[in-house]
Amino acid sequence: MTIPKPLCQCEICTEAREKGVPYARSGPAIFIHDIQLLIDTPAEISIQLNRENIQKLDYVMFTHMDPDHVEGIRALEQIALDFRTWRAYPEKKTTLIVPVSLLFELTKLQTVYGNIIDYYIAQGFIHLVDFVSQINIKGFTISALQINRQHEVSYIYVFESEDKKIVYAPCDVKPFPEENEAVHNADLLIIQPGIIEHGLKHDYVYPQNHISRKTLYTFDETLSLGKRIKADQILFTHLEEYWNRSHDDYLRLSKIIPDIAFAWDGMHVSV
Ligand SMILES: [Zn+2]
Ligand SMILES: [Zn+2]
Repeated sequence: MTIPKPLCQCEICTEAREKGVPYARSGPAIFIHDIQLLIDTPAEISIQLNRENIQKLDYVMFTHMDPDHVEGIRALEQIALDFRTWRAYPEKKTTLIVPVSLLFELTKLQTVYGNIIDYYIAQGFIHLVDFVSQINIKGFTISALQINRQHEVSYIYVFESEDKKIVYAPCDVKPFPEENEAVHNADLLIIQPGIIEHGLKHDYVYPQNHISRKTLYTFDETLSLGKRIKADQILFTHLEEYWNRSHDDYLRLSKIIPDIAFAWDGMHVSV
């Protein structure tokens, strides 16, 4: 959910509308500057790339196919399209790096013209590279860990370069593969906070049998998870409008709990 949510007049959305970023929040994505790699294309990705003045995009990966992570894929067409020929400028082609188990899911991205990936490949907008569990990109080792979910294929990614490690787990990460050593001892764990249980809009309290409890950890559970896998620092992302918290609230919370931070649009992080 973007903040402000369209039409919403709640305090959080009104403040975001007045003040803009970092109070305003758009969809979940991350750009790794060292290797010009983007993970996920939310509906607002063209605006996000422009806002951050990104000038070169070599690689794109997807964590999963939920709409909030893929709706902006047309940015890849807009980047590459040469209107004179309806084909791509060859030097503007993006390489899509995809774990093999996600390939079939990709075929579900349809338009009235058919499968969008096939079309983009045929037009030369993208080039597809698949891999099983690990791939090396410009000195970065990227490991793909599939989340074991019944009806959905979802991935978290581990990035390693020299002696640094980042685990990127923004959405649909339950059950988290915490027994896998690949996620242990990260310098930075970037993860969704899960269900925030108190102070929600409409004074809502999640019942114990709520469906979200099957797909999401609570915030406290996520904090404990971070400790168990010995992450040096935790950065929370994918923050929902419904949590009813402002950028200032998250800043306050991050000062109370050691070694955590909450992401905002345009945040730069060095590891
Ligand atoms: Zn609102
Ligand atoms: Zn999501």
